Amino acid sequence: MKSYSRRDFLSRVGMGTTLLTVPSIMGNAQQTFGSQKKLGIALVGLGYYAEHLLAPALQQTKNFSLAGVVSGTPAKIDKWKAQYNIPDKNCYTYQNFDSIAKNKDIDVVYVVLPNSMHHEYVIRAAKAGKHVICEKPMAVSVKECEEMIAACKKANVKLSIGYRLHFEPFNQEAARVGQKKEFGVVKIVESSFGFKIGDPTQWRLKKSLAGGGAMMDVGIYAIQAARYCTGEEPISVTAQEFKTDPVKFKDVEETIFWQMEFPSGAVSSSITSYASNTERLFISAENGWLELRPAYGYGPLKGRTSKGELDLPIVNHQAMQLEDFAACILENRESSVNGEEGLRDMKIIEAIYRAIASGKKEKI
Ligand code: NDP
Repeated sequence: MKSYSRRDFLSRVGMGTTLLTVPSIMGNAQQTFGSQKKLGIALVGLGYYAEHLLAPALQQTKNFSLAGVVSGTPAKIDKWKAQYNIPDKNCYTYQNFDSIAKNKDIDVVYVVLPNSMHHEYVIRAAKAGKHVICEKPMAVSVKECEEMIAACKKANVKLSIGYRLHFEPFNQEAARVGQKKEFGVVKIVESSFGFKIGDPTQWRLKKSLAGGGAMMDVGIYAIQAARYCTGEEPISVTAQEFKTDPVKFKDVEETIFWQMEFPSGAVSSSITSYASNTERLFISAENGWLELRPAYGYGPLKGRTSKGELDLPIVNHQAMQLEDFAACILENRESSVNGEEGLRDMKIIEAIYRAIASGKKEKI
């Protein structure tokens, strides 16, 4: 696949255009459907990500309108109704959420709840006949992921996971360089994501709501990157857990180091942590290398290769991801980041936890 510079990119889409068409090795190119009625989307859980990232991104999409909200906090519903002109009939609580089935304004439900609630709300959305986007991690176990996939298949609705980086040019380029063997076969991937977590009372530190610690939250990005940069599925993993604050992290892990082996012989080495900031992707191939740093946050991301700086567009990740899912619905095609993709990561996460417990290499 052809690589693309910032200038190529901007000349193709037009300066100032917020909807961008990115040639993708991971996802399909994006399109707008000018004459089509916008798809109505309802956000479930009006927390930080919904308020500060998804709602603004939805305003940049051509094919979605923010049509509804589902929340347990009445004051938030009032605020969102006023801010986004959402009618009363499109506002739901967790209790009356199932009646969304009758609401023709809502085509898609976007689940932005704590991780352990994804399973229930994706299945309820599917039963209501709505297409679903579910935030990462897809769920907190392989079993839950399988049940969510089955429920969406049964209801004949599409399911997509909030893997925004599949639609982000620097990560797409890293995947292209790796998969197309731009510098020869990839031998080593170093891929880490961690941050210093604050408030000790938040749901991210409670296993019943988060399913795990840093691994479930941001380690998953490092797993994703190792997979899309090699274009392979890992076959085995070793892992080690470290804890410096057993009080704060009594329920979930603080820091995990892990290593994955791939069928080609490539190996990845990763760190995830709630104790310290780390955000880097480095791939080393036979004849060169690529580094993204920062690699996974909301950007602006930066990268370089053994040939020089990467000059790529800075985009709104969430808007790109949302437009791709709109295109999947309007073209009736499967999302490239579907439930199976979420399930693959969960199988790896479970193997990592097994490897920590056993102290041995675990097959995936
Ligand atoms: P927040 O804590 O900010 O928001 C979660 C919201 O869920 C709450 O505000 C609340 O909304 C609702 N909720 C319902 N029940 C509970 C409960 N028992 N405890 C806490 N909240 C509850 O979390 P985030 O927005 O940061 O994360 C939400 C999801 O999005 C997670 O799965 C996370 O992994 C994912 N995420 C993805 C990101 C990405 O880049 N793709 C980035 C950040 C998060 P209400 O008051 O409306 O009921």
